[in-house]
Amino acid sequence: MQNTKILVTGAGGFIGHHLVTFLKNKGYWVRGVDIKMPEFAPTDADEFKLLDLRRWENCLEATKDVDEVYALAADMGGMGFISSNHSQILHNNILINVHTIEAARENGVKRYLYTSSACVYPEYKQLEANIAPLKEEDAYPAQPQDAYGWEKLVTERLCTHYGEEFDMEVRIVRFHNIFGPLGTWDGGREKAPAAMCRKVAAASLTGNPEIEIWGDGEQTRSFCYIDDCITGLYKLMRSDYSEPLNLGQDRMVTINQLVDIVANIAEIDVKKKHIEGPQGVRGRNSDNTKLREVLGWEPEISLEDGLAQTYQWIKAQVMEKNNVEQYDAAY
Ligand code: NAD
Repeated sequence: MQNTKILVTGAGGFIGHHLVTFLKNKGYWVRGVDIKMPEFAPTDADEFKLLDLRRWENCLEATKDVDEVYALAADMGGMGFISSNHSQILHNNILINVHTIEAARENGVKRYLYTSSACVYPEYKQLEANIAPLKEEDAYPAQPQDAYGWEKLVTERLCTHYGEEFDMEVRIVRFHNIFGPLGTWDGGREKAPAAMCRKVAAASLTGNPEIEIWGDGEQTRSFCYIDDCITGLYKLMRSDYSEPLNLGQDRMVTINQLVDIVANIAEIDVKKKHIEGPQGVRGRNSDNTKLREVLGWEPEISLEDGLAQTYQWIKAQVMEKNNVEQYDAAY
């Protein structure tokens, strides 16, 4: 294992940062690559390169002398960002993905894991809040809601063909809403669990119980804690399964319920205020039948336990930021 060299792209981001730590603890040599350093904690990578992976020559440098690649780099964010930056997302992610996999092939990388998304699933299967969980084969006939999902789907195909035509093992994971500490929690790219933790933390600190929620809050999702996500990613990489595989929890909750769970953790009463805002598809859940079959495992950390960890971390961030702002204002 010590002899295996691994590249994690997107290692300055939420999942990539956690993955680097996990792989280091397993004894691998790890190179992290990103356009930015991790924001909230130092990286554990043996080597960290700041490279823009939209550029071919940077992808060649990133994939040099490694055996395996976990390809996580992406221009992405929560629903607010994804629903209003289609051309930027499509342009940047296509460049990142076509260049990274081709550079990996040229450099003789043997195993390549691509991180896709539940956003590949067609809108017509997600029109009701109480929908059937999505099986992997439901991705076709294709009709993802946003450019983000279309790009993920095309890159899935690209990876599949590379696996078929070249000497490279390919793995493809479809994440369903991963959350946890050390993830983006404000600024517009954050996702619902982080946004709700931040809003509840603010309510708890200011005493103003009002929580703004986009839409009526009855849209549904499942949420998977970061530690389960990393375990699943690693198990998939080590498996011999080359088709796309869901990785998420299969407990569906509404956004209103998500807020109630966080408020319960914070031990405060909140007042939900429903406002206009992008909601994404109406309902989405993961069908984990194939995940259980392929990995003999499925995510096991409860939403309540995961949110308790996440809330404590985000509350600390909110407090720290407010202190800094007060300090700035005073001088
Ligand atoms: P993230 O935004 O925290 O991490 C992505 C990283 O990619 C960022 O650090 C970013 O700086 C980096 N990046 C962007 N453009 C780059 C470029 N040109 N060159 C190099 N690096 C670049 O997101 P995350 O939540 O850690 O997601 C990791 C992967 O998983 C992404 O591919 C994402 O699409 C996918 N995914 C995540 C979720 C989720 O719920 N978090 C769900 C579905 C899919």
